[in-house]
Amino acid sequence: MNAPQILDNALDAVGNTPLIRLDRIAQQEGLKCNLLAKVEYTSAGGSVKDRIAKAMVLAAERDGKLIPGKSVVIEPTSGNTGIGLAMACAIKGYAVIITMPNKMSLEKEALLRALGAEVVRTPDSAAWDSPESHIGVAQKLQREIPYGIILDQYRNVNNPLAHEFTTGPEIIEAVANTPSTSARPSTQKVDVFIGGAGTGGTISGISRALKKSHNSNCHVVGVDPVGSILALPSKLNNAGEGSAYVVEGIGYDFVPDVLSREPGVVDSWVKTTDAEAFPAVQRIMRSEGLLVGGSSGAALAGALKWLKSEEGRPFAEAKGKNVVVLLADGIRNYMSKDWFLDMTMHAEARPLASVISQVLASK
Ligand code: PMP
Repeated sequence: MNAPQILDNALDAVGNTPLIRLDRIAQQEGLKCNLLAKVEYTSAGGSVKDRIAKAMVLAAERDGKLIPGKSVVIEPTSGNTGIGLAMACAIKGYAVIITMPNKMSLEKEALLRALGAEVVRTPDSAAWDSPESHIGVAQKLQREIPYGIILDQYRNVNNPLAHEFTTGPEIIEAVANTPSTSARPSTQKVDVFIGGAGTGGTISGISRALKKSHNSNCHVVGVDPVGSILALPSKLNNAGEGSAYVVEGIGYDFVPDVLSREPGVVDSWVKTTDAEAFPAVQRIMRSEGLLVGGSSGAALAGALKWLKSEEGRPFAEAKGKNVVVLLADGIRNYMSKDWFLDMTMHAEARPLASVISQVLASK
């Protein structure tokens, strides 16, 4: 660990997230490989998207595109990129407007407002290229607001580059620096990487970092919700195409430019449902004590599904292979959602409460 130092501002607390063993889940599943989680909720703004927000703002400043006190940064997002941007812009003195579909959590909107951003909600049913979508509304605002600028995470090369230069290398270093022992054998390489895709910047950038300079044989697996169309081969998307899913931040009805379609960047795709993702969130919390959000549950559910597939089984059964799953944000983004309340506060989730009431009543 680096010696602690004073940081200049909150942007210096973006990234540098831990890689944590999911030993209990691996054991429950009978996995022989090392199951490792890149835990992104410890970043200053609470998600993997802080990294790209910081990178896009710094790059726009370098290019002279942002003017403090004048520029209005407008961005369509599922919320987490917005939170990162609002953080960066609070520090640097730019106004922020975030456009975000209705389905995204109240917590994200409240946090954005607390950071000084304005939030415009858009209908979930609007197709990405319609004027009513979060993308369409952002474009309209940009046309009409003087000094309005969209940094555009769907197209901005600094989105995947932020992961190629930070997230990927952090994973590689942690794996390479942890010695192999008889109790904990390790190839000291990343053998498999699994993560969800929204814009696709995370998986594309990390894949490039892993395959270019570290392990060209690393297998990269994308996780895409049923209802979305990002998975390949595209027949994987046929079942449930266009159906709604509650999980936030992954899946789209179009393929963003920053999701690389070059062969060998994403090797395989797995589809997941809400019914798989949300119990997996609870499992990560109760088995591993990690405070992760919905897309992290999808990532774990997708990882376990893949590790049981014909393609994944040889990795699952190999001692010392390192399988890294990216957990993109934290549960504090989702505490008002029904799926979270169902697993915590509602009566059926609280069998102990009734036992305790009986004990107290019998006194
Ligand atoms: N999970 C969550 C919670 C997210 O907010 C996002 C960003 N949309 C992702 C996963 C996917 O990241 P990316 O956009 O880099 O594909």
